[in-house]
Amino acid sequence: MPGTLFLCATPIGNLKDITERVLETLKSVSLIAAEDTRNSMKLLNHFDIHVPLTSYHEYNKYDKAEELIGHLMSGQDIALITDAGTPAISDPGEVLVQKCIEAGIKVTSLPGACAAITALTLSGLSARRFSFEGFLPAENKDRRAVLEELKNEYRTMVLYEAPHHLSKTLKDLFDALGDRRISICRELTKIHEEAVHTTLSAALMSIEDKKPRGEYVLVIEGKDREAEKAEKIKGFEELSIAEHLETYEKQGMDRKEAMKAVAKDRGVQKRDIYKALLSEEELQEKKDGESET
Ligand code: SAM
Repeated sequence: MPGTLFLCATPIGNLKDITERVLETLKSVSLIAAEDTRNSMKLLNHFDIHVPLTSYHEYNKYDKAEELIGHLMSGQDIALITDAGTPAISDPGEVLVQKCIEAGIKVTSLPGACAAITALTLSGLSARRFSFEGFLPAENKDRRAVLEELKNEYRTMVLYEAPHHLSKTLKDLFDALGDRRISICRELTKIHEEAVHTTLSAALMSIEDKKPRGEYVLVIEGKDREAEKAEKIKGFEELSIAEHLETYEKQGMDRKEAMKAVAKDRGVQKRDIYKALLSEEELQEKKDGESET
């Protein structure tokens, strides 16, 4: 019988955030696969866990996954831990999980700390719907493409960032999304934990005076539907009803469809559009009459 792969969440700073279940599992497995064995050794020593460790990181994730699957197939249980937080969230864990699923190996996940969720809950921004973006791509073309998509994201967005890229990322976000509310969360669960609730423009100004340090999660408000609607209505209000109808008729709509679309745009009933159109026409006729006399 194949063994089980246990995804074990480890603390993102405060060691007290490890769960009892994770500690029990780490003690019971035959092998622990860790992103950085030196780093994880400190954690395991702290909890008096002495189980063989093997490295599983970004640069060996495909070959090493095959090797680990070999162990699992021979009946050994393996725990996967990463540098911090929940395995498979912005780290190589997802490759191993996919391969285990393909090989019919049982995978189970032991929940615990995750920087993205911790920051989201601290942000004060809408947590009802959110989009986890991980790190923005480093390569310019891919980065621009993602930022272009994010322009129209209505959900709250959660991003990871390293301190030396923070300034560039804030600037790119401001250029792409315009000014938005943002929570800059740093060193979560650690002594210097901080959540700064600000705007992208204010963050850009204040970052000039500081050298960012530590680990960061950025939580950015999604596109504002109400403001977008108000902006659209404002644009339409600059047109007369006749001009507004004409724009739709030029697109191929008949008068009835155009009336419906105009009413929807302006947030009113179709009959209001009809009445307004009649009075616009009457006014125009009156003006024409006056200019003839
Ligand atoms: N698997 C991890 C998790 O569940 O959050 C994330 C791993 S990812 C390679 C590392 C990034 O997570 C960091 O660059 C930082 O953006 C974020 N991060 C991790 N720990 C953090 C902390 N204590 N405070 C703020 N951000 C943190």
